[in-house]
Amino acid sequence: MERVVRAPCHVVASSEGFQLAEQRHEAILLFGAPGSGKGTQGKILGTVPGFFHVSTGDVFRALDNNSELGAIFNEYSSRGELVPDDVTIRIWRSHMQREEKADRYRRGRDIVLLDGIPRNVNQAALLDPEVDTLKVIHLTCSDESEMISRLRDRALKQGRSDDAREEVVRRRLEIYKEETQPVLDHYSKDLIAAVDALGAPVEVLARILEHLAPIQAPRFESA
Ligand code: AMP
Repeated sequence: MERVVRAPCHVVASSEGFQLAEQRHEAILLFGAPGSGKGTQGKILGTVPGFFHVSTGDVFRALDNNSELGAIFNEYSSRGELVPDDVTIRIWRSHMQREEKADRYRRGRDIVLLDGIPRNVNQAALLDPEVDTLKVIHLTCSDESEMISRLRDRALKQGRSDDAREEVVRRRLEIYKEETQPVLDHYSKDLIAAVDALGAPVEVLARILEHLAPIQAPRFESA
């Protein structure tokens, strides 16, 4: 039987005094440079009961190209730049609400695998009141040329125009170093697990599971 062992809430100040806010989303951050395999691993892990994968890149790509938000996304992603934080957080929040309402995500029971967010320190701070971060899986890759070649493969297979152009890929990697890497300092060191992103998908998966099993196991007990 499944058992919920944590119910993290936070207290907010309002004109009526202090009140208990909605329970925060419990999350594991999949963190790493473009091409490090966050999406591949996130998709696999999202099929495991009790986990719910959310990729902001996928949420953005699902937007209607003719909508205002779709146009904003195209404008930034085609240059390899980050979409502004207010738009990103708003889109992420409405995605979470939609998934919860549709019962595909059960807050307090499922652990969210956040893939591609937060992408800078401001986003990390904006998420804190809504997200309880249980672990940060940092996919590390010392070989930049390997990541670039993965991005090229993906561009061909998935038709991703941002990864098809060399200068856009370079810009994405630059932004990762300048804006995204500092996000690691936002979290306590004991939350961060460095995982070697090189190797076959199953090898990387096995390394990640070593960190996730101790988080999920206490939530389950035999009937
Ligand atoms: P990804 O699929 O994660 O590589 O994201 C593709 C593009 O979506 C990025 O280059 C950004 O333009 C945009 N994007 C995805 N996630 C975020 C985020 N958290 N903040 C800002 N832009 C994002």
